[in-house]
Amino acid sequence: MAIQSVVLKTIYVGTFIHSVSLAELQVLKRSAVAVDESGKILLVEHPVEASMLEMWAKEAGTTIVEAGPGQFFFPGLIDTHIHASQYPNSGIFGKSTLLDWLNTYTFPSKLPSRNPAYYATRDVTSTNILATTCHTAGQRAFVGRCCMDCMAPDYYRDTDAATSLADTIKCAEFCAKLDPKGELVQSIITPRFAPSCSRELMRDLGDFMAQSGLLCQTHISENKGEIELVASLFPECKNYATVYDRAGLLSEKTVLAHAVHLTDDEIALVKMRGSKISHCPVSNAALTSGAAKVRRLLDEGIVVGLGTDVSGGYSPSVLEAARQATMTSRFVSLTEGEEAKLSVEEALYLATRGGAEVLGLQKTVGAFEVGMEWDALLVGCTFVPDEEECDEDEDLLQAKQAVGGGMTPVDLFGWENWEEMVAKWLYSGDDRNVLKVWVKGRKVHEKPA
Ligand SMILES: [Zn+2]
Repeated sequence: MAIQSVVLKTIYVGTFIHSVSLAELQVLKRSAVAVDESGKILLVEHPVEASMLEMWAKEAGTTIVEAGPGQFFFPGLIDTHIHASQYPNSGIFGKSTLLDWLNTYTFPSKLPSRNPAYYATRDVTSTNILATTCHTAGQRAFVGRCCMDCMAPDYYRDTDAATSLADTIKCAEFCAKLDPKGELVQSIITPRFAPSCSRELMRDLGDFMAQSGLLCQTHISENKGEIELVASLFPECKNYATVYDRAGLLSEKTVLAHAVHLTDDEIALVKMRGSKISHCPVSNAALTSGAAKVRRLLDEGIVVGLGTDVSGGYSPSVLEAARQATMTSRFVSLTEGEEAKLSVEEALYLATRGGAEVLGLQKTVGAFEVGMEWDALLVGCTFVPDEEECDEDEDLLQAKQAVGGGMTPVDLFGWENWEEMVAKWLYSGDDRNVLKVWVKGRKVHEKPA
């Protein structure tokens, strides 16, 4: 569908569910959220009086969007780690682990191509096409050219550190022209990971990060073989995190993907620098990398979000990452104790507010609060009618079935409370439950009727 180009003043009415803290989801029933022309939330009215709705409905230029029964508004889900160019390989990983998977599946797939490639490719043109594609689609995105000047095949390596930095600056300049205020699309500095970057390149990128104020994303401590490789390549550093720290790449603007095997010293260093972590449970299981101890990171006060890590992860769904985060935490609890388990509320916090904070967007998105922007989903589930209803009124039955936009994988039997409904959505839901999507107040997707 075409992206809605003009954002009218819109009042959203119905049930709103969002995180107010790591452990608490708030359910705002019979409420209203007013969004202005720029996509900003002006008002959250809870509960909303019928007289107020009538008054708003009469105001010229105001649109009212109502959620039906079994539907609720939820903040947009945030993916803090995805490789766009690897999408064609989703689901293809066999029994490989990180280092052989990179050589077999990943490097060959990142040859420069016309396919727009978040971690893009190392090619400037394809990285810029990805940025333009996100911007045109109305998507909020950080897009980074993947820097690597060593330990990659010749066909997929920057010539040297100077070229790598120069190409990174070209991509940053392109994004600054495309979206001067960085309202939707921004550039992000992206050293692939320590083994494929020279000391010189990492230092140059660290300097560029300090000068530009851009975010930086990279991988850390994903797999034991990778950690041994880093130790052999950087014998002067006492651990993996120190390699980045020496280059000036660890700051509060750094997003570190995986962090499965961080040592106590590394956790202390990451915490001290204020760097953030993107937890990628699907990828970590698929590539047998390990199970990140998310509770430990959260207890230390480190900010954690979720990443799909396509195509180390097989699914581009952040809902899948959230549900797998709860599963991974259950395996962790077998050795670390019950408190390691993540709840439904916590997984959804990581998918929204956690992800927003990882990307420095905590004042902009992740919840329904005045001053934030309207990045939201309309979620719908399917009602299963009882027999009596079928006999009584066929029209009513059809109307109810249609409420969720047709059949969805989440069946409601009418007895569920909101907490149970959200749990059903997390564990059984998919894109069939996403009826509409808005970014910065613009509708960017609507499920076909
Ligand atoms: Zn990755």
